[in-house]
Amino acid sequence: MPLAYPPFKSCPCGSGRSYGACCGPAHDGSRPPATPETLMRARYTAYALGNLPFVLHTWHASTRPSHLDLNDGTRYMGLRVHTAAGETVEFTASLKLPGGERYSLRERSRFEQVSGAWVYVDGEEVEG
Ligand SMILES: [Zn+2]
Repeated sequence: MPLAYPPFKSCPCGSGRSYGACCGPAHDGSRPPATPETLMRARYTAYALGNLPFVLHTWHASTRPSHLDLNDGTRYMGLRVHTAAGETVEFTASLKLPGGERYSLRERSRFEQVSGAWVYVDGEEVEG
C-alpha cells in the first residue's frame, strides 16, 4: 500500500513545493504530468513513498518489469534534476541502499507520450 503522505509536507522530489502542490496531483490522478520532468519527479516520489501502482502505470508497456519490489529497504534521500530537454531528463537520485550504503544514481531517462500521457521508457546510467 502506498504511504499516506501529508499534502502540506515538502515534496520528496525536492522541488521545494508541498506534496499537495507538486507530485500529489499526479499520484491521485487529478493532474496528469504535463512534461517528462514532472513525470520523472512524480515517479521518484512514488518510489520514495512505495507507490508501486503509480510506478508501474507510468512505465511503457514494452519495458515495464513484470515484478518490482519497492519495499526492499532502499531509502530515497533526494533528487536533483540536471537537464530536461525534449523526451529526456537527466537526474541524480541519492539513495541509501538496504545495507546502509549511500549511492548516487545518475541517469538519463527517456520518456514517450502514449495516448496523450507521458510514460517512462528506459534510462541509461551516466558517469557522474
Ligand atoms: Zn514533487
